[in-house]
Amino acid sequence: MRMSRYFLPVLKENPAEAQIVSHRYMLRAGMIKQSSAGIYSWLPMGFKVLRRLEQIVHEEQIRAGHIPMLMPTLQSADLWRESGRYDDYGQEMLRIKDRHDRDMLYGPTNEELITDIFRSHVGSYKDLPLTLYHVQWKFRDEVRPRFGVMRGREFYMKDGYNFDLTKEDALHAYNRHLVSYLRTYERMGLQAIPMRADGGPIGGDYTHEFLVLAETGESEVFYDSEITDLKFGDREIDYDSVSECQAVLEEFTSRYARTDETHDEALFEQIPEARRRSARGIEVGQIFYFGTKYSEPMGAVVANEKGERVPVHMGSHGIGVSRLVGAIIEASHDDKGIIWPEGVTPFHCGIVNLKQGDEEADAACETIYKSLTALGLEPLYDDRNERAGGKFASMDLIGLPWRITVGPRGLKNGVVELTSRRTGESEELPPEQAIERIAKIYAGL
Ligand code: ATP
Ligand code: MG
Repeated sequence: MRMSRYFLPVLKENPAEAQIVSHRYMLRAGMIKQSSAGIYSWLPMGFKVLRRLEQIVHEEQIRAGHIPMLMPTLQSADLWRESGRYDDYGQEMLRIKDRHDRDMLYGPTNEELITDIFRSHVGSYKDLPLTLYHVQWKFRDEVRPRFGVMRGREFYMKDGYNFDLTKEDALHAYNRHLVSYLRTYERMGLQAIPMRADGGPIGGDYTHEFLVLAETGESEVFYDSEITDLKFGDREIDYDSVSECQAVLEEFTSRYARTDETHDEALFEQIPEARRRSARGIEVGQIFYFGTKYSEPMGAVVANEKGERVPVHMGSHGIGVSRLVGAIIEASHDDKGIIWPEGVTPFHCGIVNLKQGDEEADAACETIYKSLTALGLEPLYDDRNERAGGKFASMDLIGLPWRITVGPRGLKNGVVELTSRRTGESEELPPEQAIERIAKIYAGL
């Protein structure tokens, strides 16, 4: 993309309404624009990151054997009356009447809708196990929308639902989700720690929240510092294997890690003092096993091997895709701007032309731009007639992980400059080598 033709409305001033760094940088880097409280338009660069995160989510869900689909945002109140949640949900639910005076709502989540789909089409244990998911906009009329996309009213969420014959099978689905989430967040350049969370009105031990440690997080968390050494990495895992998924779950959940809702001070104090940590965290996902809570009242039953009709065991599993855009920035920035992890960056590399209009510099930039594009990469070429200082400031704010700087002086010696946004280190090298390096960095990402 050429900056002169792109839509990237960068702001010079710090927007007064932004209290935290991710909100500030998302506004300044022209990623979002508020349309009303807690509701945002995603401008082109913000949209690119959102799409990229969604793509990673899809790839990892499909790898785990889960099946993508799409449910609507607007739902009929009738289904929610069946489960009893129409009255329970409270003011967070946006209730709407259509022209025939029928009660509708903008979905805050989809347990009812998916259970209805399931009961209409599945009747036998032979069709199980089944996990369906979608990535769709949700609406929750939060009392205090704030921090930009981190606590919006309209937000983008991946929500998945497993259907299993037995509790044991459903717990395998739970473990499988935990594993796939670990991989998902790591690919986004994040460490998200599974923490034992509160089962809410449903109760039980079977829920974990995934938290990204950050000072601005809304949750208070307590954990054993050893947990931050754990990496999932690129290990191969057979998602159908009960024992393999179980082993990963045990590895990642056996150390103390809890949100304040489940925190147990006596247990916490059994950890050696030097390893005890209390911190703030951002909830970027949650997994849940809730048994027959919806299948029973809504009649989602299947015939088991003996021909008996039994309600299915279910769980739901969510990832806050739009919140993650903010969470990644909270975890990865400096005082100049965002520092995108390579796995999620909106453009792979920036090209800064120090002297627009100089024949050689322009030609060299064109060649680099075209070579990177031919390799399947997306460079962002700052071809505007602006001073170098302004171009650097914009690039630093936008936070692309790599920058190639091209100027007449370097070109006389046959070199350009390759700079890492994260370390600030620069290296002079011939343009072809800079291109090769960039290609290598992104190979396999
Ligand atoms: P919270 O405790 O932050 O209100 P929740 O536990 O009610 O969230 P879930 O129902 O678990 O949310 O939804 C799954 C994920 O969706 C959350 O882990 C979070 O990442 C994201 N999410 C929830 N509410 C919002 C919101 N208002 N704005 C943006 N993302 C949200
Ligand atoms: Mg939650």
